[in-house]
Amino acid sequence: MSGGAIFRTCGCIGEDGRPLGARCPRRAASRHGGWGFVLRLPTTAGVRQMRRAGHDTRRSAESALRHVRALLDIAEDDLDRAAIGDVIVAAGRHLPDVDDVRRRYGRGQPLTDRTTVGAWLAGWLDDKRRATSSPAPCVPMSSTSATT
Ligand SMILES: [Zn+2]
Repeated sequence: MSGGAIFRTCGCIGEDGRPLGARCPRRAASRHGGWGFVLRLPTTAGVRQMRRAGHDTRRSAESALRHVRALLDIAEDDLDRAAIGDVIVAAGRHLPDVDDVRRRYGRGQPLTDRTTVGAWLAGWLDDKRRATSSPAPCVPMSSTSATT
């Protein structure tokens, strides 16, 4: 149900000016571009597609996907699963600890410390800011400091 999938990303642009995506000829190189995952995530606002790129390795993307699945698996019914989905969305890139959420869920406590709308917005804005300030994955590191 909440299987999800791993995908590969790179920032390469084709001659037509559009992202190459799966057409990129350099995909075969093991250290080219990055990895991400997609997952159909239940939330209180309905099922939405969760898409996270920016992982350096396939293993890293897989472990993040496993983390999200483990969080969703804590819930005992669909309603609770949607509530955990909200927490995952609000958490951005810093996924809450599975054991911590399980403990809170078992005690009927709020699932995280940042479940207010204000915190959600702050986290979202924070995520946006970081996303726009980080360099594109395929841009090579600056070579200006290479001479010693
Ligand atoms: Zn590429």
